[in-house]
Amino acid sequence: MKLRNKINLYTSVLFACLIILMNAALFFLFSKMMIDSELESARSETENLAQEIDESLGQIPQADLLRAYAPMDGVIQIVTQDLKSTAGSNSEEYRNLIDEQFYQSEQMQELVKDHQHYAFTSIPIILPDGEVANLQMAKSIQSSMDILQLFRIVLIIITLLTLVPVLISSRILSSLIMNPIINMIDTMKEIRESGQFKRLTLDGKSKDELHLMGDTFNHMITLLEANYEKQKQFVSNASHEFKTPLTVIESYASLLKRRGLQDHALFEESVEAIHSEAIRMREMTEQLLQLAKHHEQWNVESKDIKLKPFLQQTVKAFEQAYNRQISFICDDSSVVSSDEQKLKQLLFIFLDNARKYSDGNIILQCEKKDQETLIHIQDFGGGIAEKDLPRVFDRFYRVDEARTRQNGGTGLGLSLAKEIADVIGIKLELKSEKNEGTTVTLIFN
Ligand code: ATP
Ligand code: MG
Repeated sequence: MKLRNKINLYTSVLFACLIILMNAALFFLFSKMMIDSELESARSETENLAQEIDESLGQIPQADLLRAYAPMDGVIQIVTQDLKSTAGSNSEEYRNLIDEQFYQSEQMQELVKDHQHYAFTSIPIILPDGEVANLQMAKSIQSSMDILQLFRIVLIIITLLTLVPVLISSRILSSLIMNPIINMIDTMKEIRESGQFKRLTLDGKSKDELHLMGDTFNHMITLLEANYEKQKQFVSNASHEFKTPLTVIESYASLLKRRGLQDHALFEESVEAIHSEAIRMREMTEQLLQLAKHHEQWNVESKDIKLKPFLQQTVKAFEQAYNRQISFICDDSSVVSSDEQKLKQLLFIFLDNARKYSDGNIILQCEKKDQETLIHIQDFGGGIAEKDLPRVFDRFYRVDEARTRQNGGTGLGLSLAKEIADVIGIKLELKSEKNEGTTVTLIFN
């Protein structure tokens, strides 16, 4: 069964049961009160009657006396212990209404005869000869029963009428719940069929759970789309960037195949070129794989790092690897909380650029300024022109393609640095002037 029908059915049935139960209880209570009051009034009438006929009993024949006091729509009778009865009524139809029965105590009950309702009461009296007898009366309560019948019909009509708004409101409720869900299902189907990322249109007013669900769905689609775009960019960039080294390797390999064995110099040159292109491809693959990762997958492990010894060690490792001097200036005894490996990787990216794009001195400096710890990496190389500055953090962007390619650059270093800095919460500042040099600042906060 569809969810909409389930909501309709359950709410309607529940409400219908409640209304029926309420009206039934109301009817039962009202009818009990009405019959009780009829019986009570019949009993007090019988008691009054007993007092009134007490004096006349023995003087006037019982049958005449009883007929004189008989109610218009009922009968009174006196029943002795040996079940001798005398009845008096104004109409023959009521004469045999009461069975001849002697009761030891007072009686008060509803009597039904030929679908007619009567209030029956019986009280003990003492006859003039000292014998104990019952004075019994049965009196029609049909008018009350007619009122009850009318009340019952009214209640049934009310019950049926209240079911109409219940049905309507359950329909409204189910549409209210189902419409956003159906909307979402339709959008999902559209996405599946068209292969495009679509979002739900949400009205800004409501802030209920369904709105929240739609919002979460849109957020998820945005994430998926970003992921998809990232993947697409990754594949197109990677295939484009791999084309050059692969062409170099292919051409040198075919050269080797043709003339490699005869020409030793050519052999050396080819192997060297193939080797360096292979290294470049490996490095590029590693960088691309890291860039393709989502921030949540980076596994940041923060710990307290004493900045000075950490930087000293990094400088030493770099100097050894590239055989370049770095001036290290740091008086700060700061301890920063960061991921050691990622911070080291970040520093290496900037030091590597400084090394590649300058021939002179490289300075690595740390300082504390307005509660912030800063690290500067400065070189005095060719620098970056102002127009290129905003773009150097883009993937595969190289200012001077030919020159940087010669240096072995892939154009991924700074974009990776930006990702790493984002992940470990470091702000980056890049200042550069053409032919003056470049300074990168890492800001911890
Ligand atoms: P990779 O770092 O991936 O090996 P890359 O160095 O070419 O390659 P990035 O580090 O992203 O790539 O730098 C992008 C471009 O910015 C470089 O190609 C270079 O032109 C320019 N650049 C970066 N740092 C400097 C610098 N210190 N001095 C001059 N130019 C720089
Ligand atoms: Mg670089």
